[in-house]
Amino acid sequence: MLTAKVIRYKNNSQKRFVCCGECGLNYSHRDYNILLEYQKLIYIRYKGESKKEETLCHECFCGKVQEMCSLEDGRVKLVDGGEAYILNFNEYNG
Ligand SMILES: [Zn+2]
Repeated sequence: MLTAKVIRYKNNSQKRFVCCGECGLNYSHRDYNILLEYQKLIYIRYKGESKKEETLCHECFCGKVQEMCSLEDGRVKLVDGGEAYILNFNEYNG
C-alpha cells in the first residue's frame, strides 16, 4: 500500500515556501498553515515511482494516485502526525 504523509510545518515563516512538484502551486509556510487549518489545501509527501520523495498538493496527488491505481490496490495510507487514515481510491474509478 502506498504511504503518504500530510505536510505540517511548525514554523510560521513567510520566507520559506512549499511547492507542488506537479502544478507548481506554492505558498509560504505561514499561508499554508492557515489553508491547512481551514482544510482548503493539503500538501502531501510520498515516495513516487522513482523512489524519490515528492511533494504534491492534494489535487495533483489524487490525480497521481488514480494513475497508480492499476499498480497498487487503490488504497493509500495517509499519515497525519501520530494518526493514520486509510483512503480508498477504488471508488473514484467507477
Ligand atoms: Zn499541484
